[in-house]
Amino acid sequence: METLVVASSNKHKIDEISKVTEKFGIDVISRDDAGISKSLEIPEDGSTFEENSYIKAKAIMDICGKPTIADDSGLMVEALGGAPGVYSARFAGEDQNDERNNEKLKDLLKDIPYKDRRAKFVSVITLLFPDGRKIVARGECPGHIIEEERGDNGFGYDPLFVPEGYGSTFGMLSPDVKNEISHRALALKNLATELERMAL
Ligand code: IMP
Repeated sequence: METLVVASSNKHKIDEISKVTEKFGIDVISRDDAGISKSLEIPEDGSTFEENSYIKAKAIMDICGKPTIADDSGLMVEALGGAPGVYSARFAGEDQNDERNNEKLKDLLKDIPYKDRRAKFVSVITLLFPDGRKIVARGECPGHIIEEERGDNGFGYDPLFVPEGYGSTFGMLSPDVKNEISHRALALKNLATELERMAL
């Protein structure tokens, strides 16, 4: 069985990824379990989600020599020209904090009517193999940004984001529902399709 290293220490992401890869007999371990030092910080200085997910996967694969998977994700708001995009985690500054990021987003959108508050979550997953094979899978989840936070589930911008076709924010929806329709879930479905094509 192949072992896949996830270029993340986030248990939530690792669980989501392993649910897909286990169908292909692929075992998943975190970067910590692969022996990568916690102090190794990978500069995410790409200008697209594709670049950043590649940078993360490549940095970890170069150290551990095993197939490595990384995802990069964020929120793109139409009225803000696609911001915060790749800067989603540090929208309100390097000293990142979900609450401050949400405050900044609300401030920037405060005079904008609901119909013009269209946004989407994006996730790009890159899987690299030491022999040079590469899979890139993207998922997008469209929706709207509301004026005040609602719901305690999830993380990041979830309490402000209402996915298309729903009357509740990601912060109000159950994790099961979010995991069916989210950008990361869709990217993982696309990854599964590509893995099937590769006949792994
Ligand atoms: P990364 O993929 O860990 O680099 O996440 C980038 C940032 O995008 C996070 O810190 C969140 O602010 C935001 N983000 C990504 N995915 C989600 C999500 O599913 N819900 C809410 N915020 C998200």
